[in-house]
Amino acid sequence: MSERPRQADILATIRAWVERAQRVVVLTGAGISTESGIPDFRGPNGVWTRNPAAEKLATLQNYLADADIRKASWRGRLEHPAFTARPNAGHAALVALERRGKLHALITQNIDGLHLRAGNSPAKLIEVHGNVHSAICLECGRKGPMQQTLDRVRRGDDDPHCEQCGGILKSDTISFGQALVPEVIDRAMEVAAQADLMLAVGSTLQVYPVAHAVPLAKSNGAKVVIVNAQPTQFDGIADAVVREPIGQVLAAICGGELPA
Ligand code: NAD
Repeated sequence: MSERPRQADILATIRAWVERAQRVVVLTGAGISTESGIPDFRGPNGVWTRNPAAEKLATLQNYLADADIRKASWRGRLEHPAFTARPNAGHAALVALERRGKLHALITQNIDGLHLRAGNSPAKLIEVHGNVHSAICLECGRKGPMQQTLDRVRRGDDDPHCEQCGGILKSDTISFGQALVPEVIDRAMEVAAQADLMLAVGSTLQVYPVAHAVPLAKSNGAKVVIVNAQPTQFDGIADAVVREPIGQVLAAICGGELPA
């Protein structure tokens, strides 16, 4: 049998699981947004694959301690592709899944806001690593639209501080070394435990605690499907693993046409 029909068979099987499922929980990572032009971190063209030193700079401790790192971060945010990227077929398929009443929750590690932009409802979305469209003061916790702070950077303030308390500002995202928001990660684990089908999409599943959602769902009886070009540590507990491009796969299994 050729490779192609076998892949179509796997997709048809997963699609049947989606049809039968009542509480699909989807966990997405950076890989769902590469087809929108936003690079991932650990894929073949990932930001950290190409520049391993960038991973070390991405910690909260370095950001707090070093104005040069903050200035470099603000310059990077000015150019961040999330501000111009458009949702792709993968994001659209998850909107279709929600409209069909199948989506119990969408847990995302992404900070790009593309699930909301595509049309998934805020009530279904759990952004465990925050969102780059918002800026936060690390001192007083005041939040505001990112574009307002970026306007200050464009006007020449290369390390903007909070206008209320003078504290250090950052994107409202979780950096390495920064605590997750307890209610948000707790909710992610709660919905994962309720899933009857878990789709883990575009993630190396290396970032904890969110990666734990996958074995948690499995141990509570869910079928697990992993859609990722590279192997993950949970491939062994998955009921199906698909390595084809995410947009095409999600369109096929969430209600779209099967590829010929
Ligand atoms: P990761 O970079 O560790 O892994 C992404 C995976 O997706 C890789 O294994 C890659 O092979 C796969 N992939 C990429 N494009 C694919 C495609 N079209 N089809 C199939 N597979 C594809 O990503 P992660 O596990 O999400 O961890 C990175 C962390 O960095 C996350 O916690 C996230 O917060 C953050 N991040 C977010 C964005 C974003 O918001 N778009 C981008 C980069 C990093």
